[in-house]
Amino acid sequence: MKSKFIFVTGGVASSLGKGIAASSIGAILEARGLKVTFVKMDPYINVDPGTMNPLEHGEVFVTQDGAETDLDLGHYERFSKVVLTQDNNFTTGRVYYSVINKERRGDYLGATVQVIPHITNEIKERILANAKDNDVVIVEVGGTTGDIEGLPYLEAIRQLKTDLGASNTLYVHLTLVPFLKTSGEIKTKPTQHSVKELLSIGIQPDVLLCRCERDLSRDVKRKIGLFCNVSENCVITAKDVASIYEVPLNFQREGLDERIIEKLNIWTRQPDLKMWSDLVDRMKNPKHKMVLGLVGKYMALKESYKSLNEAIIHAGLANDCSVEITYIDPEEISKPNAQLESHFKDVQALIVPGGFGERGSEGKMLSIRYAREQKIPFLGICLGMQLASIEFARNVCGIPKAHSQEFAPDPEGAVIHYMHGQASNMTKGGTMRLGAYACKLAPGSLVEKLYGKSEILERHRHRLEFNNAFREILEPKGLQIVGTSPDRSLVEVVELKDHPFFIGTQFHPEFLSKPLTSHPLFKGLIGAALDL
Ligand code: GLN
Repeated sequence: MKSKFIFVTGGVASSLGKGIAASSIGAILEARGLKVTFVKMDPYINVDPGTMNPLEHGEVFVTQDGAETDLDLGHYERFSKVVLTQDNNFTTGRVYYSVINKERRGDYLGATVQVIPHITNEIKERILANAKDNDVVIVEVGGTTGDIEGLPYLEAIRQLKTDLGASNTLYVHLTLVPFLKTSGEIKTKPTQHSVKELLSIGIQPDVLLCRCERDLSRDVKRKIGLFCNVSENCVITAKDVASIYEVPLNFQREGLDERIIEKLNIWTRQPDLKMWSDLVDRMKNPKHKMVLGLVGKYMALKESYKSLNEAIIHAGLANDCSVEITYIDPEEISKPNAQLESHFKDVQALIVPGGFGERGSEGKMLSIRYAREQKIPFLGICLGMQLASIEFARNVCGIPKAHSQEFAPDPEGAVIHYMHGQASNMTKGGTMRLGAYACKLAPGSLVEKLYGKSEILERHRHRLEFNNAFREILEPKGLQIVGTSPDRSLVEVVELKDHPFFIGTQFHPEFLSKPLTSHPLFKGLIGAALDL
């Protein structure tokens, strides 16, 4: 096997940015011309995060092949050229599910099925299956060292060093090095403890990424290295940064890519990170600024709408604009004496994102109406597109009963209804319309102009769809159906006539936006707002 494996673990605390660290390692190796891929291993029992509450777990990232995955896969795709699949993320639930199925089939030939070797072998197989033609596979272990749940993963990656050879495996450990303001000191003890924990499992980290609010001095690096059996130049500062897109540049400046290729014995060209440095320069000195309104109850919890927040940042960058996001609570604005104008005073563009359930839908529709009537550039995503269609049916087409079957089963007035078979799938994981589907765009439409092509591929995650019976009622009044599935049976994009920018998409464009290539719909939205 020609692939090399980098294992990324995290210690001391969660939320240190292990996903960004793994993604940034991918970015700097790709900048040296290497072909990389990623694996995220999650130590929970859910088979995938699709059934988990995004407020607790963060966004569910949807891959091209329709897997509902951890949000770190979104970072991996945004920082590199990879297109990930179902195979790039697995959980303890999936591992056990597969081992138990094999046991029931009799595959283990009478053996007692145990964590070691059966679960660990399953984990190793799943990691190795991603080698393919990749030069480097970056494997992130979810959770924090010391978690009971994480032990089988650590055992599996420990074994892989013996299986594959020391020059084919590298252990990178991300830790926290706190700076205590009261004493003005940097503290290395938590890192020492965390490495001790790894050593007790049999893993000696090769590289330490030390998350710190300031640069580590040579003395501190030497001290950490001494206590953790790591050479001083492999103790890397992972300094806090204003933007996650600065991390690849900082790692490269610290020599991380050099250390990795030395240790893994890889020959590469010099890194070319010009695209990243140009991006960071642009981010620091934007020409314009604007305010964008996001309507949703929990929108301020950025982790739940990670890709959306990133897509907005990318679109700002593409327009040389810093975008300030203001969160509008739909339940606030639907209160009887609410002053809509005061909430929308500074808002130059509006997004109503995807979501589930009726809560807040009236307020979301009030804000859509406001954007429609006041000609504020608007993008409705998935639920946002569905609500835009209902709002239009109610207030322009005079159908007061217009609604979605997600909120009420009544077939009458159901502008949005369940796709075939979906109403009975409610409690099951992995059963929505998921992943990338082709969509044909109408000639002469705004979306066709923005994309610059008439057939696109976008990712979906929904159970309901636009009810075709309403096409001939809504279209003549001005809500144009400008994107459909190639056989025209599913409405994918609607657009308002006589409005500078009013687009609703059944798909989630945010999953395809990247810092270096902003998505045309978000880029167009910000552009339209700046032209006002
Ligand atoms: N709840 C809606 C549906 O299932 C919208 C889903 C979404 O916004 N992702 O169709």
